[in-house]
Amino acid sequence: MTSKQTKFLLNETDLPKQWYNITAEVPEIATPMLNPQTLEPVTPDFLSVLFPMELIMQEVSSDRYIDIPEEVREAYKLYRPTPLIRARRLEKALGTPAHIYFKHEGVSPTGSHKPNTAIAQAYYNKISGTKALTTETGAGQWGSALAMACNIFDMPLEVYMVKVSYQQKPYRRVLMQTYGADVYASPTNRTNFGRALLDENPDNPGSLGIAISEAVEVAATSGGAKKYSLGSVLNSVLTHQSVIGEEALMQMDMAGEYPDVVIGCVGGGSNFAGIAYPFLRENLRNGKTTRLLAVEPSATPSLTKGVYTFDFGDSAKMAPVAKMYTLGHGFVPAPIHAGGLRYHGMAPSVCALYDAGHIEAVAVSQLATFEAAVLFTRTEGIIPAPETAHAIRAAIDEALDAKEKGEERVIVFNLSGHGHFDLAAYEAYMAGGLQDYAYPEEKVEAALKDLPMVPMAAGTD
Ligand SMILES: *Cc1c(COP(=O)(O)O)cnc(C)c1O
Repeated sequence: MTSKQTKFLLNETDLPKQWYNITAEVPEIATPMLNPQTLEPVTPDFLSVLFPMELIMQEVSSDRYIDIPEEVREAYKLYRPTPLIRARRLEKALGTPAHIYFKHEGVSPTGSHKPNTAIAQAYYNKISGTKALTTETGAGQWGSALAMACNIFDMPLEVYMVKVSYQQKPYRRVLMQTYGADVYASPTNRTNFGRALLDENPDNPGSLGIAISEAVEVAATSGGAKKYSLGSVLNSVLTHQSVIGEEALMQMDMAGEYPDVVIGCVGGGSNFAGIAYPFLRENLRNGKTTRLLAVEPSATPSLTKGVYTFDFGDSAKMAPVAKMYTLGHGFVPAPIHAGGLRYHGMAPSVCALYDAGHIEAVAVSQLATFEAAVLFTRTEGIIPAPETAHAIRAAIDEALDAKEKGEERVIVFNLSGHGHFDLAAYEAYMAGGLQDYAYPEEKVEAALKDLPMVPMAAGTD
């Protein structure tokens, strides 16, 4: 029976003891990562320059469950389990018979789901003797999460922050610095790649791809002292995020309902995978039929407009090549796009599952997304991160469709983060300063001219 409650809270003892690895369920989705120079499958040697062995093993693991180390569970208890909340006021405002639930990952100390993997990565680096971590950050959510995690495990952190964000989001920078991290506006003059770009154009605004290249270069040339940490896309990251969906399954049980559709926004794919993959397991193993919906901005439509092929993970072609839906590694997002979700590619497993029809994808436009975010703020009281607002838009559209069809559809979405550091974007929206922007087809074609020539790519589509 459907519960009358609004909040569904778990005890600390309910915190999952294991992460869930989707690769065990659908082995076909494991496509090889390639060395960017040779385009041959990467060796553990290549990866061990960047990552500690434990994370490399998780990357290629086919184990269904991976034990969460006790030290990681202890740190998770700073904010986990997170609440599942029924959005009753939003339902009422929409006049929909649908039931809308959201998993509130915005309650983490840095305001998003990202600490779920940051804590794990900092821990594995610490126990394998890494002296410092390097990473990139765009909007600053990932940098803040890793800065907090590195501080927990007493490890220095260098953050390469996309220059436009560094200038437009000073408060995220201050948060990272308060945790003790060193933050640099990328492109910097600290790397060969950064210096080359600054020679060409001193006003280069930076991009996530460039910042990744710089953070990777610093780690790769540190003689093993520094390692690199990535906040999304990798299999191991998606596995760490499975705590979201595992908790949500228990909480839906408390609510006495089961979702017809589970929704998450996608940048690199980690928060979506985190909530969706445990439900996908139930589809594949226990005969459930939940639809899993990935939501992306029309300004960065990797899944809905990109090409499914091998591409470089970064602009400088230093990071591994992976098979994904991509807009091309030279992709630079439109300046009028206020939300995050600016990566050119997508987690390989999300891409493979989308290609195989296990998950669905939709692109939503900027203005409709902010409209949804404002309605959510006014009904549920939480101002969402602009990234998250994409999931909210799609959840509202599902609820309106259910209303039209007179269905009591059960909708669950992941509230991947709050928007307390994104108020400038809301200000721009309310002042009428934002526009819709659909990434043009020609630009996708142009960006794809420079794909790696992978022999294996032929005929694998
Ligand atoms: C980083 C971020 C995202 C996008 O990254 P994914 O790996 O796709 O989850 C979405 N929402 C918030 C709040 C974020 O910080």
